[in-house]
Amino acid sequence: MRLILLAAPGAGKGTQAEKLSKHFDIPTISTGAILRQNIKDGTELGKVVKGLIDKGQLVPDDVMIQLMNDRLSADDCKNGFILDGFPRTLTQAEALDHSDIKIDKVLNIDVPDEKIIARLSGRLECSKCATTFHKEYRKPAVDGVCDICGGELVVRDDDKPETVKKRLATYHEQTEPLLHFYADKGMLRTAHGQEEISDTTKEVLKVLED
Ligand code: ATP
Ligand code: MG
Repeated sequence: MRLILLAAPGAGKGTQAEKLSKHFDIPTISTGAILRQNIKDGTELGKVVKGLIDKGQLVPDDVMIQLMNDRLSADDCKNGFILDGFPRTLTQAEALDHSDIKIDKVLNIDVPDEKIIARLSGRLECSKCATTFHKEYRKPAVDGVCDICGGELVVRDDDKPETVKKRLATYHEQTEPLLHFYADKGMLRTAHGQEEISDTTKEVLKVLED
């Protein structure tokens, strides 16, 4: 299965990607995680993208296309993959379409903006293993501490309220048009983000059967 996950920031893409990775036994390639790791490691790429990400702006298309061409040709992608965060613009989608990389399906997880704002404004992320929690919806067992690895939970710089609004606007302008792009090719499947993560996963697996 070669799958693209398309959804607004905060729609639960990353969480569903994890579930699908286990279900299909294929890796999730998360562009946000790759970029944040580069920032942490202080790489050249990290230096280029830090300012953009903190402002809620997109990384330039040519940078992303090069990065993903390299990543998707790695050995672990041979039996399939789940793309979380790429493509995010029509230019990126067209570049992928013209490459040797074949995509089977594109999944949209539909969540209204109001819910997204509520979710992102309470989101916490582990500073060590990047697992996400929420102040109300997915509380860690111990305040401020990751259930998985014991790392410190922090608010991501780009989860600050003003940046969240900017990221949503960027999504509507630049990424939402991809829904039509893939619907026209007959590749788009849509599931609805629900309160319970496992309910969303059930619907996701069902719509992917078609
Ligand atoms: P979520 O954490 O809910 O997935 P998100 O999708 O906005 O929210 P990430 O996918 O983690 O966040 O991406 C973080 C930032 O990295 C984006 O706001 C953007 O600046 C940059 N980025 C990630 N993928 C791309 C891409 N394909 N093209 C351009 N910029 C990207
Ligand atoms: Mg993401």
